[in-house]
Amino acid sequence: MKTADNVEQIRDIVRFWRKEGLTIGFVPTMGYLHEGHQSLIRRAASENDRIVVSVFVNKMQFGPAEDFASYPRDFQRDCEKCQEAGADLVFHPTDEEMYQPDFSSFVDMTGLTEGLCGRSRPIHFRGVCTVVTKLFHIVSPDRAYFGQKDAQQLAVITRMARDLNMGIEIVGCPIVREADGLAKSSRNTYLNEEERKAALILSRSLTEARQKIEAGERSVSVIETYIKERIAEEKLARLDYASVVSWPDLKEKEVIDGPVLTAIAVYIGKTRLIDNFIISEV
Ligand code: AMP
Repeated sequence: MKTADNVEQIRDIVRFWRKEGLTIGFVPTMGYLHEGHQSLIRRAASENDRIVVSVFVNKMQFGPAEDFASYPRDFQRDCEKCQEAGADLVFHPTDEEMYQPDFSSFVDMTGLTEGLCGRSRPIHFRGVCTVVTKLFHIVSPDRAYFGQKDAQQLAVITRMARDLNMGIEIVGCPIVREADGLAKSSRNTYLNEEERKAALILSRSLTEARQKIEAGERSVSVIETYIKERIAEEKLARLDYASVVSWPDLKEKEVIDGPVLTAIAVYIGKTRLIDNFIISEV
């Protein structure tokens, strides 16, 4: 496995692979890799000849009061996880390599980016769309792999690739969880022992909500209220949002009469965690 921190090195290697007629799968990450990221790399490795992983904590997608500075970083460990999962090349650029001092071009999206996480993180998706576009231009993969853990991001990137004719297939991958149900996340490392226990309220309330829909409940407000009340019972938890929206166009609904995403964001202490489930058939 190779690593590279500059754009030209990546382009040279990818150009060589392309000449050989090889297909390229790409997994963008912010590092501090876990089984969730590795599941994306493994899936990519099963569908492409060569796999590129990027490890870059993208300042542009963090708000001023968010955790850019404290976000966990460990590149050596990330390389081991990449290699173990079948990556061929890891792109680990510096901030300066990605953003020149007079950088002034952005990729923005209306609609899909405005609800759910976009409401409390207003600049987040502009940062995500901009960095993913840059990474797509640098790596020029055939396919790119994103986790359903960040369901709104998956919907946004899929739409962006279609709208802007990027010619890259966007592949969504299932959420990988800890044995007790907590969705794996690099941010779980912020939780102390008590908070780690409290964090189970996310997956628990969602599992219960899913059971209600599967048992025939069709009212969006009943489901949303149920989740809100369950989360209010956990004293370390503070709800950001709990929403049931259409999938994958993320429109508000009153009745569950087609594919829906049920998504939540919850502060456990100071840590903001997200989780969700998708019901594709009702
Ligand atoms: P991040 O490093 O958090 O930006 O995540 C990089 C990619 O890994 C994104 O496409 C995430 O959706 C995906 N990912 C993160 N956590 C998980 C998980 N628990 N299961 C599946 N995919 C995940």
